[in-house]
Parts: sequence; structure tokens; C-alpha cells
Amino acid sequence: MKIAFIGLGNMGGGMAANLVAAEHEVRAFDLSEDALARARDNGATAFPTVRQAVDGAEAVVTMLPNGAIVEQVYGNDIISHAPPEAVLIDCSTIDVETARRVANAASVEGYEMVDAPVSGGIAAANGGTLTFMVGGSDAGFARAETVLARMGKAVIHAGASGAGQAAKICNNMLLGASMIATCETFVLAEKLGLDLQVFYDISSKASGQNWSMTSYCPVPGVGPETPADAGYQGGFATALMLKDLKLAMAAAQSVDADVPMGRRAAELYDAFAASGQGGLDFSAIIKTLDR
Ligand code: NAD
Repeated sequence: MKIAFIGLGNMGGGMAANLVAAEHEVRAFDLSEDALARARDNGATAFPTVRQAVDGAEAVVTMLPNGAIVEQVYGNDIISHAPPEAVLIDCSTIDVETARRVANAASVEGYEMVDAPVSGGIAAANGGTLTFMVGGSDAGFARAETVLARMGKAVIHAGASGAGQAAKICNNMLLGASMIATCETFVLAEKLGLDLQVFYDISSKASGQNWSMTSYCPVPGVGPETPADAGYQGGFATALMLKDLKLAMAAAQSVDADVPMGRRAAELYDAFAASGQGGLDFSAIIKTLDR
């Protein structure tokens, strides 16, 4: 299949490489020469513009930084430049409203478009083990699934247009809040004189068990190997968690939902990023609680 891939950064680079490995013809474009050179090294064909990359494509995948860029790239260079039978798949994390607006503009021009944000970081993008949450019609989902399946371990139809983004920000709001709750619990356990490995062994088999503890423990040397064991390098950057929490707060406001724990998580990650720690894995927020 001829697949145009726009945005080959930390996530898109590995995703595009997996499409090449699945013997698709990948037509790459990125504003960054370095990203484009890496894509070329991984077997993609580099194009000088989005319009040239999407020309003749059967599917277009985008993995871009934010909603404003997504809207601009689709509005200027994908919609009405890609063949009308191409399925359009945006994997970026963006706000629900923009996702719906862009999909609607695509639909008016006769395209099938889905939002398909991911759960999983750079390692999952490289390893082809992402989880995709897809918003769009049944027909759009069916067409997108064949492309996405080569880049992930799960492709789930979340509902109509925008539902993928809604699922993504709800999931990450829960993750942000549960990570902070896990961090403060370990800090309290230590101050109460508990051995942290013993507490982990108890809580991971008791009702406090959660993913932030048992799959992504913020305490070095406890539980499975995580970014905490590598000085909080790699993993999922605090700046990206903050981005997702801000999207969640905007979405909550738009539907008048009360989300006190999510709001507090957004405030704490905002302060942590503002202190210059935005590049560290989001579990590093334990350092601000550990006094
Ligand atoms: P990144 O900054 O590494 O990559 C984005 C790429 O888009 C860059 O290479 C940039 O040059 C390119 N780009 C920007 N504007 C462009 C344009 N107008 N035309 C073409 N290319 C353009 O970011 P990333 O970490 O790969 O994240 C991409 C998306 O995935 C974001 O929406 C992010 O929220 C989401 N996400 C990231 C992670 C993660 O762990 N990094 C995890 C889940 C979701």
C-alpha cells in the first residue's frame, strides 16, 4: 500500500519504520531535515512537500505536535490534494473539537478520516506495540485498522469522530492523577518507616494496586525496571503529560464536568514543568513530594 506519513519525530519515526517493515511504500515528509534523513535511512522515500508526499497515496498518516498544526497541514496540503479515496488517519494527540472540525472538513470533500491517538511512548512506537483509540465511522475504522494494526498491539474503535481523542485525554487524566497518588503514597510509606519493596509487595496485591505502581513504579529499584531506574530519563516526558492534562481540562470545561483530581494533577505538573523539569519522565514528580 502507498502510505504518506507526515511528522516523523520521536513517535512518527518508529511508526513509519514499522510500516516499511510491513512492506508498505512509505512516502515521508517532515519539516525537519534530520527527521526526514532518519526516515530515509529506515527505508521510506522522502518528499520535499506534503502535497508531493500525499500525491497518489492510498492512506495518509499524520503524527504532529498539536491541533493548530494538524488543522493547518490538513487544511492547506492534505484535504483536496490527497486522492479522494485515500483514508486519512491523524495519530497526533489534539483537542476533541479540532479533531471533529478537521474530520468534518475532510468529509465535506469526500474523504474518510479518523482520529487515532496512541497510548504508549517512544519504545512502543519503535516496537510496534502502541494502542490506538480510533474515532470515526465504521467504514473509516475498518480502513484505518489495516494500516494501524502494523504499528500497534491493539486498535480499538472508541466511537464517532473525536471519540479517539476523548478516550486518550480521559485515560491520560486518570494516569496523571494516579501517578501523583502513587508517588505521594510511597513518600508517606517511607516516612512511616515501611520498607518500600515490602510496601510494593503488599499494595501491588491489595486494593491500592494500579498501573502507575505495578508497571511504572516511580521509586528506583522497586517493581519492574522503569524510567525511575534510569534517573527518570526517557519514558513519557512531563511536558507531554502536562499537554494532555491541559487538553483534559479544556475538554472538561467544554462539557461542564467537575474533575477536581485531574485539575490538581494539572496544577502539580504545571509547577513541576515550570521548575525546569519538563524533559524528565512524568514519574519524576515524586521528587517534589519527597521532602
Ligand atoms: P516530535 O516533536 O518528536 O515530532 C513531531 C514532528 O512533527 C517533528 O519531527 C516536527 O518536525 C514535525 N512537524 C511539525 N510541524 C510540521 C509540519 N507543519 N509539517 C510536517 N512536519 C511537521 O513529537 P512526538 O513526541 O513524536 O509526538 C507527536 C505526537 O504524538 C504529539 O501529538 C504527542 O502529544 C503525541 N504522543 C507522544 C508520545 C511520546 O511519548 N512522545 C506519546 C503519545 C502521544
